[in-house]
Amino acid sequence: MRKYVFDFIEGGADLTDLLGGKGANLAEMTRLGLPVPPGFTISTEACRAYLSTGAVPAGLFDQVNVHLRLVEDRFGKVFGDPRDPLLLSVRSGGRFSMPGMMDTILDIGLTDASVPGLAARCGDPRMAWDSYRRLIGMFGRTVCGVPAEAFERELAAHRSHAGVATDAELSEADLRHLVQAYKKVFHEQTGREFPQAPHEQLYQAVEAVFASWNTERAVLYRRQERIPQDLGTAVNVMAMVFGNLGPDSGTGVAFTRDPATGARGVYGDYLANAQGEDVVAGIRTPVPLEDLARIDPRSFHELVSIMERLEHHYRDLCDIEFTIERGKLWMLQTRVGKRTPAAAFTIAAQLVDEGVIDLDEALRRVTGAQLAQLMFPRFDRTAAPEPLAVGVPASPGAASGRVVFDASRAASRAEAGERVILARRETNPDDLPGMIAAQGILTSRGGKTSHAAVVARGMGRTCVCGAETLDVDTDAGRFTVAGTVVSEGDVVSIDGATGEVFLGEVPVHASPVARYFGGEAPAAGTDLLLDSVHRLMTHADRVRRLWVYANADTGADAARARRLGAEGVGLCRTEHMFLGERRALVERLILADGDEERAAALAALLPLQRADFVKLFEAMDGLPVTVRLLDPPLHEFLPPLAELTARVARAEALGQDPGRDGALLAAVRRMHEQNPMLGLRGVRLGLVVPGLFAMQVRAVAQAAADCAARGLSPRPEIMVPLVAAVPELAAVRAEAERILAETDGLRRVPIGTMIEVPRAALTAGEIAGAAEFFSFGTNDLTQLGWGFSRDDVEGSFFPHYLAMGIFGVSPFESIDASGVGRLVRIATDEGRAARPDLKIGVCGEHGGDPDSIHFFHTVGLDYVSCSPYRVPIARLEAGRAVVAAPVTASSDSR
Ligand code: ADP
Ligand code: MG
Ligand code: MG
Repeated sequence: MRKYVFDFIEGGADLTDLLGGKGANLAEMTRLGLPVPPGFTISTEACRAYLSTGAVPAGLFDQVNVHLRLVEDRFGKVFGDPRDPLLLSVRSGGRFSMPGMMDTILDIGLTDASVPGLAARCGDPRMAWDSYRRLIGMFGRTVCGVPAEAFERELAAHRSHAGVATDAELSEADLRHLVQAYKKVFHEQTGREFPQAPHEQLYQAVEAVFASWNTERAVLYRRQERIPQDLGTAVNVMAMVFGNLGPDSGTGVAFTRDPATGARGVYGDYLANAQGEDVVAGIRTPVPLEDLARIDPRSFHELVSIMERLEHHYRDLCDIEFTIERGKLWMLQTRVGKRTPAAAFTIAAQLVDEGVIDLDEALRRVTGAQLAQLMFPRFDRTAAPEPLAVGVPASPGAASGRVVFDASRAASRAEAGERVILARRETNPDDLPGMIAAQGILTSRGGKTSHAAVVARGMGRTCVCGAETLDVDTDAGRFTVAGTVVSEGDVVSIDGATGEVFLGEVPVHASPVARYFGGEAPAAGTDLLLDSVHRLMTHADRVRRLWVYANADTGADAARARRLGAEGVGLCRTEHMFLGERRALVERLILADGDEERAAALAALLPLQRADFVKLFEAMDGLPVTVRLLDPPLHEFLPPLAELTARVARAEALGQDPGRDGALLAAVRRMHEQNPMLGLRGVRLGLVVPGLFAMQVRAVAQAAADCAARGLSPRPEIMVPLVAAVPELAAVRAEAERILAETDGLRRVPIGTMIEVPRAALTAGEIAGAAEFFSFGTNDLTQLGWGFSRDDVEGSFFPHYLAMGIFGVSPFESIDASGVGRLVRIATDEGRAARPDLKIGVCGEHGGDPDSIHFFHTVGLDYVSCSPYRVPIARLEAGRAVVAAPVTASSDSR
């Protein structure tokens, strides 16, 4: 028969999959010889068997009984012995710690028969009856689903009958009565008596833990955190120890360093004469852990030395739960502790200083996501009021504005120059205009994969969702929370990194880390966090193989990117150079009647483009600047069809000649496309509109020559968009080379192409014959690979797809490695086979996404290019990709 039950002396930290985190670490501490109450763990495998068959696996409870006997032997008490009962705690614990699972049940095994035995042993009958009534309540709630209020009512009734304000003041007699009342509630609600056989209590509790894996809350949490749904949970069963046996007993939690800042030292809370659950319940205020040194110096020193040992053993910050029973210290839990992003950086750097880990390991323990958190502007905490509510932190940032409950009102108020926060119960595709217009989005329903969350992250908009305490009434234009009414026009502030919602405007300041990256570094050694970030960034830069470029369209963007560490521009979109007052020139180009007029329009655009490029080359002097020739369809530069139609109709109604508008309308009609994404754009446009690309190439060449003449080292590269077949590229190249050759004083300008059409990826060997570099346009490649029009799908059915688990994360956020990524791999391999010195990179948002960066590293690209503010994140992740262990566990998932 399969072995489902493992004594704490059999397991270890390497068995987390089988024993769950809590069980594996209890076993590890036992193995280290630390004082852990005896116990055993029922494996996740048993839970999986239960979940697939709906029944506890045959023979499981026989194994449980064998191990229970070992616990009895070691603890010197017998389970349910009426004179001196061994009592047990039953605790759930999966591979990942997870809210939504069943709460721990304490004091399993206590019955009518053994309450007096417990009372005699601890010399405190009141405590024995209190434990019993807690057991009945907990067991009723968590195992049998009895509503908590049913017990609460009895408790309140007994308090008022006894004339006391708190549970602690109830006398032994009151508690005896309360036990009877609880038993009655239990019977009424379940139709059964509270089980008087200790083993029956244990078996039922174990089964309830198994079943709690599939509670709605747990399923939802796993979906949001991308934890597989089929892992199952382990069940830990261990001997109870009592922190509530008087002033020489107590319970506490401790951290081996400050989990908020990472500062060294012992941190924690201690509550004398209490059980673990009392600390969490917050009935009494605990004292700082240092006070234990005074209360019980022997236990304190033992605890501190155990903490040192644990930190040394796990080589990381540990958090600990402990209980002291009459001066004897017991360890009840440890794990590598959660920490804030700031603490992650400082702890990793400190552990290097202490010789505990090396820099590679330190780099593995911080993430680009944590760095991003540290770079967001933040609310000034000293000026922030108490939050009104806390929801799910769905998309980071700090946003303030007037709250508006309707998307179109949000759009119109924003148009009028107001900053608005769109508040909804939940959002749907009709809310898009309002979401775009708002500074931030706030909802009272839905989690990290709700419509609001997905769309907000896609747009980089701050979002707090699922703030369930908000009662949102969109019709009345207000929300209510804890008695406060917030109406349209009131100012609220939302923190997308913490989920907090504040009333009023909270001042925002740039984060110190963002200022550091911007060049405002404090002197070395003056700031723990910045020193740590600096050291880890330096190491990442030293080890990484990928270059990090930025997507930058203007000199100012390029300069900013360079300060953030960009080593070139991977994508300069030239379309913005056609906007603003230059639109008129584009209209002239489109309406040109014949070669001459067209040439005149292009000639007028040339100096403007040249001036733009000069600024870019200056900002990126000495580094490559990849200029993409015009990509979007030309009609995007004309007024919208509806607007033109109205203008022409108005003119005609007044009997006037619509003039230029008439010609524009005709052009817009002629150029109208059903699917512009798949229409006349990119290289197609360059081949169809004579002289357009030639003008752009000429502007690049002249700008570079101009800079070179002034002693600078411009390094332009020309990139052709949307190529699908090599003849397209060859034609553009031939013309470009002719123009470049005409320009004096020019270094060789590499000509390459974007790979963003699947056909290009699949014929990359041929295309490499005409390209000196490839740059994967992974946005279009994803659109065309999946057949998704991004603008249409993200706001409509993506949340549905995410909820159904068709993908765990939007393929626009993180590269779809097996599909779109395969196109990248094929094109890289075949391109390099044809041209070994082919330079290959990626531009598009995936270039700044941590998981995607790891993928691009593995495929062997030369660079990633991303938006300037993501450059530091990409540098860090490119370094992490080199040192990554096979599993990329981030420190907060351990
Ligand atoms: P959580 O995962 O919510 O921390 P735990 O399983 O750690 O839940 O248990 C909840 C509380 O019960 C903790 O304070 C813990 O210290 C306490 N506890 C668990 N097992 C025992 C035990 N055998 N003896 C005394 N207290 C216990
Ligand atoms: Mg715990
Ligand atoms: Mg594209």
